Amino acid sequence: MCGIVGYIGTKRAYPILIKGLQRLEYRGYDSAGVAMISETGNLNVYKAKGKVSDLEAFCQEKDITGCAGIAHTRWATHGEPNSTNAHPHYSASGRLALIHNGIIENYLTLKEKLVGRGIQFKSVTDSEVLVQLVEYIMQSNGIELLEAVQVALHQVIGAYAIAILDKEHPDTIICARQSSPLVVGLGEDGAFYLASDASPIAEYTDKVVYLNDGDIAVLHLGNELKVVNMDNETQHPKVKQIDVTLGQLEKGGYPYFMLKEIFEQPGCLRDCMRGRINVDADRITLSAVIDYREKLVSAGKQLFESLCRIPVEVEYASEFRYRDPVIYPDDVVVAISQSGETADTLAAIELARKAGAFVFGVCNAIGASIPRQTSTGVYIHVGPEIGVASTKAFTGQVTVLSMLALCIANERRTIPGDQYKEMVKELTLIPEKMEQALKTNEQIERLAPIFTYAKNCLYLGRGYNYPVALEGALKLKEISYIHAEGYPAAEMKHGPIALIDSEMPVFVIATRDRLYEKVISNIQEVRARGGRVTALVTEGDTQIQKFADHIITLPDTLECFQPLIASIPLQLLAYHIAVCKGKDVDRPRNLAKSVTVE
Ligand code: GLU
Repeated sequence: MCGIVGYIGTKRAYPILIKGLQRLEYRGYDSAGVAMISETGNLNVYKAKGKVSDLEAFCQEKDITGCAGIAHTRWATHGEPNSTNAHPHYSASGRLALIHNGIIENYLTLKEKLVGRGIQFKSVTDSEVLVQLVEYIMQSNGIELLEAVQVALHQVIGAYAIAILDKEHPDTIICARQSSPLVVGLGEDGAFYLASDASPIAEYTDKVVYLNDGDIAVLHLGNELKVVNMDNETQHPKVKQIDVTLGQLEKGGYPYFMLKEIFEQPGCLRDCMRGRINVDADRITLSAVIDYREKLVSAGKQLFESLCRIPVEVEYASEFRYRDPVIYPDDVVVAISQSGETADTLAAIELARKAGAFVFGVCNAIGASIPRQTSTGVYIHVGPEIGVASTKAFTGQVTVLSMLALCIANERRTIPGDQYKEMVKELTLIPEKMEQALKTNEQIERLAPIFTYAKNCLYLGRGYNYPVALEGALKLKEISYIHAEGYPAAEMKHGPIALIDSEMPVFVIATRDRLYEKVISNIQEVRARGGRVTALVTEGDTQIQKFADHIITLPDTLECFQPLIASIPLQLLAYHIAVCKGKDVDRPRNLAKSVTVE
């Protein structure tokens, strides 16, 4: 959510900043802005409501010179999205410009004090307090920027990633983080890059430093990176190598990132399993499980319960943290986050750790906050996900959870050795079966226009396919803005059946499994009320086509892996319906890719 970019070097900053903002667009935002120190020493700030392209249009004919700059895409939390509230914010004298990602919780108290001392605010954001406070401290104590930032941050409560430009020191950017991500790239010739994640940096350098909470970094052109904390103690964060390729960040010929990512899934899942399932496909090795065998095996919903016989509670991180949950020291808490920066998940992890639980992370972004704060974990390794509606991260997460459950089940001997081997083998065949499922694309593209009129849709599934129904409904809501509900097929009788009429498309996941016959009865119940059924069926199915309006045929697999296959046509369906409705699939309204605020 929101994006920060910065550059200080010998090249022109503006093109680097704009390109960086474009790379971060996927995170979701409502306005954008840039600040640069020009060749003539002016500190110019340009801001616009809307897209980065609106900012570019605004900057035409403006002075965009200079080799030092910071830029921001804002996802408003305090104050409506308009150009005044957009970042960067000037300090009262115009000497400083600041960008901020996060929320300053005590901003009102700080603002009242500053207003009482005669400082006038231009915006209604919480963020502007930071720049006014820093300048006020500089002026009233006669101290330099770094020291003023340290004093100011001692007074601030909340989450932030900030970057500040100082007109008097055009060779330096100062930045800091607390609970919001910030990455520094080390360029050639003493240049520095700065961003919320590595994607804007990847094309310039592969050497990055992920700042930790409490770090304040001084990016002084030509000098070594200096990192201190609020008490001016030197910090030594590690320099890491990033391995994001440019191709992974481009659309590669697809009209939208989402479609590219849907089609990438077979390859992504191969990457996800690579090195973890041996060539004979009879054993899964997850180093996290080997290293922490005692913890994990003594404790890992459906998959873990049925394979490992371990009771599992599934929780929303945002609810978990506020309801005083019962956590025992021998519990394992699995934290799942694509970005590894989700604020609520981070807070839930902290709670679980304090209660003594063992926290296992399942993340995509390498080096993000969650992998650094969990006891151990597994990366899903599906590459950067740019489309806001998650596709490959979802199937990557399901794959990692499947591998984890199988590992633990094998260790606990809760499934026979033969069954374990058969399941591991089948998991390795999933990418191929996904490729087959992707062949439904053209059929789904043809079907999509039929559903664009719908105001509501119902997704039904049972057992392992119930979460698939939830995921299918979520995808449709996110990108086509059609209301949709995922429901356990048999529970429909207890409520949603009242909604069914001939206007209501009903998508049923009716693959051949233990509950197949039951799902057929549920389809009949929908049909009897005039509902229009599109059914996802297993190849060779001859029954359902007799009474469904449309059928989409999928390759057969084990019941527990069916979600990996059945998700594909539902992703495609949401995608094509949204495209038919003329929606911006990669940047759905009001949504952010990475939710770094509570
Ligand atoms: N809370 C700040 C604002 O509303 C920053 C939001 C963001 O992270 O983009 O301006």
